[in-house]
Amino acid sequence: MITPDHIRAIAPYQPGKPISELAREMGLDERDIVKLASNENPLGVSPKARAAIAGCLDELALYPDGNGFELKSAIARKYDVGLDQIVLGNGSNDVLELAARALLTPASSAVYAQHAFAVYPLVTQAIGATGIEAKAKNYGHDLGAMLAAIRPDTRIVFIANPNNPTGTLLGAEELHGFLGKVSPEVLVVLDEAYVEFLPEDKLTPSVAWLQEFPNLLVSRTFSKAYGLAGLRVGFALARPEVADLLNRVRQPFNVNSLALKAAAAALDDHAFLAESKRMNDAGMAQFIAGFQHLGLDYIPSWGNFLAVKVGEAGKVFQGLLKKGVIVRPVVNYGMPEYLRISIGLPEQNARCLAALQEVLNP
Ligand SMILES: *Cc1c(COP(=O)(O)O)cnc(C)c1O
Repeated sequence: MITPDHIRAIAPYQPGKPISELAREMGLDERDIVKLASNENPLGVSPKARAAIAGCLDELALYPDGNGFELKSAIARKYDVGLDQIVLGNGSNDVLELAARALLTPASSAVYAQHAFAVYPLVTQAIGATGIEAKAKNYGHDLGAMLAAIRPDTRIVFIANPNNPTGTLLGAEELHGFLGKVSPEVLVVLDEAYVEFLPEDKLTPSVAWLQEFPNLLVSRTFSKAYGLAGLRVGFALARPEVADLLNRVRQPFNVNSLALKAAAAALDDHAFLAESKRMNDAGMAQFIAGFQHLGLDYIPSWGNFLAVKVGEAGKVFQGLLKKGVIVRPVVNYGMPEYLRISIGLPEQNARCLAALQEVLNP
């Protein structure tokens, strides 16, 4: 096929290995496999979302509400924004891509950090725009380096806070200072996929900053703390002028009916969110204690996962697979010595730590 060079140059996204695939390959029972590879919610689906889905199966013959009125209304109430400030996405990945499609051209560039979420280079390259990677500092975003990397042709800066796969977090003051220095012609996409796991005192008033910075876009997802990764739904909050641009390039029915209903219900499921956070905090402590016991270095994380230094990570990854434990190698993130492990239920975390011990000290 005749295709532009920038399409052939794209390294495809590497998702976590599905449980069914490992079961097939290794002849294992699916029930014996622990998957801690995709930052999914180990508690499953929010019960309110589950009930909402059950109640709308009869509507599946109809197209979804292309404007997502009910979900947008729930988001608008929760975040105190106008309906015209919301863009719904088929996962927040969709939102990231909408930003790229609305603003980038092959003649422009986007800036993101070394070790940052892989979707930023992907959506940039898909347009044929130039991706500029700013060096990280201690595995986290170096905002000074990112500011310096911005060129006259730069249209988007992507920031993941917390970042995946490193779990690093930027403070509110630092971020605010950065926003004050970026040209208003450059959209700053602040990807807060893990914000629900943060303690109160680490929260950034990012949504309130929309008043101050017309070039800010905040993206959120239902895939992590809300437990709806399989339904694919996320959203962006921005100024109406920016939201309008993204909505122009959006597919008319990009979020399906079940996802719209489930997300609206999940947004109010405070008990589920609180339990998800509690489980995550406990699992984080369990893994940290386990890593210390094994003498392993790790990057302190603010997400629902941890990057741990294991040496030859590819080999350790394979060893864990043989024991029915799926984690994520991050060699494609420039971290060949690390594995990213998602936090699961206590017994899953224990299985993972025990397998890690056996693989590292046979
Ligand atoms: C998981 C994740 C997302 C969410 O992706 P969805 O498309 O909403 O499932 C977005 N950004 C980062 C940094 C992530 O790790």
